[in-house]
Amino acid sequence: MAEQAVRVRLRRRAREGGNRMKEESPTLSVIVPIYNEEVVIPELYRRLTSVLERIGESFEVICVNDGSRDNSLALLHDIHRRDARWKVISFARNFGHQAAITAGLDYARGQAVVIIDADLQDPPELIADLLAKWREGYEVVYAVRTEREGETWFKEFTAKLFYRLMHAITNVEIPIDTGDFRLMDRTVVETLRAMRERHRFMRGMAAWVGFRQIGVPYRRHARYAGETKYPLRKMLRFALDGITSFSYFPLQLATYFGFAIALLSVIFIVVVVAMRLSGLHAFEGQATTLIAVLFLGSIQLISLGILGEYIGRIYEESKGRPLYVVAQAWGLDRPMISLMP
Ligand code: UDP
Ligand code: MG
Repeated sequence: MAEQAVRVRLRRRAREGGNRMKEESPTLSVIVPIYNEEVVIPELYRRLTSVLERIGESFEVICVNDGSRDNSLALLHDIHRRDARWKVISFARNFGHQAAITAGLDYARGQAVVIIDADLQDPPELIADLLAKWREGYEVVYAVRTEREGETWFKEFTAKLFYRLMHAITNVEIPIDTGDFRLMDRTVVETLRAMRERHRFMRGMAAWVGFRQIGVPYRRHARYAGETKYPLRKMLRFALDGITSFSYFPLQLATYFGFAIALLSVIFIVVVVAMRLSGLHAFEGQATTLIAVLFLGSIQLISLGILGEYIGRIYEESKGRPLYVVAQAWGLDRPMISLMP
C-alpha cells in the first residue's frame, strides 16, 4: 500500500517535472561566450534584450563566462538577478571560445539556438532575419560577413586567406567568410552535442552535420568596446584546429614532396653522370652537398612537425577529459540528458 503511494507520488513528480521543463523550454536560446567583456556587457544586455523582445518569441540568453579576470561575472550575475531570462554558466578557468559555445549548446533548451559574440560585432538585429529563414524550414542559418569594419588589414587578409584555404583542402562544404554567428535548429544542436571532439571548430562541425543550410549576408561591425580576445597565437591555434579537424592534406604534403624530390634526384643523377663522362666538372664541392642536405633536412623536420600536430591531437583525444568545467551556474538546470534527437 505504502509502496504504491510512493510510486504514485513519484509518478506525479515526474509528470510535474516534465511539465515544468516544457514550460521553461523557450522558442529561442541565445548563447553568448564572454571573456573579459565588462565594457560591453551593459550595452549587450540593452541591445540584445530589446531586439529579442521586439521579435516577441519566448527566449533565454545563456552567457558563458569563460574564466574572465575582470568584473564580467559580477555584471552577469547582477543581470540574472534582475532578469531571469538571462542565465549564466561560469567556467572554472579559461577554456576558450569554442568550449564556451559548446557549454551553451549543452545547456540551451530552445527550439532554435543562436550563437552570437558578446562584443556586438555581430548585430543582434540580424537575429530576426535568421529566425525568418528558420521558419522557412532551414535547419542552419549562418551569417556571412560581406564586409568587416574596424579590423586590421592583416586580420582581414589572413581571415580571407584561411577561409579559402579551408574551402580548398577540405571535403566538408564549410561556408566562406562565416563565423560562429548562426541559428541552429534543435535537431542540429542535438547532433552537435553528440560530437565531443576536443579540438573544436564549431563552424566546420555545423557544416558537417548537413540538413538544409543557408547564409544570410551582413556587415560585420567594429567591436563596440574593448579589444580582441584572439591574439595572433590563439588565431593560429584555431586555424590549425580547423585544418587538422577537417583535412589530411598537410599529412599528404610529405608524400607529394617525397615523390617530387625523388623524381628530381633521378633526373639529377643522370645529368651528373652524363656530365662527368663527357669530362665536365660541374657540381663539385661542399656548397652543393650542404644545400641539398639542409633542404631535405628542413622538409623532413617540417613533415615531422605536421605529424606531431596530428599525434598531439590524437593524444589529447585519447585522454577523454571533459571539454570544460563549470564552477557556477545561475538559472540553469543540468544540461539536457539525451544526446541524440
Ligand atoms: N571569447 C571567449 N573565450 C576566449 C576568447 C574569446 O569566450 O578565450 C569570446 C569573446 O568574449 C567574444 C567572442 O568569444 O564574445 C569572440 O571573441 P573576439 O571578439 O575577441 O574575437 P574577434 O571578433 O576579434 O575574432
Ligand atoms: Mg569580436
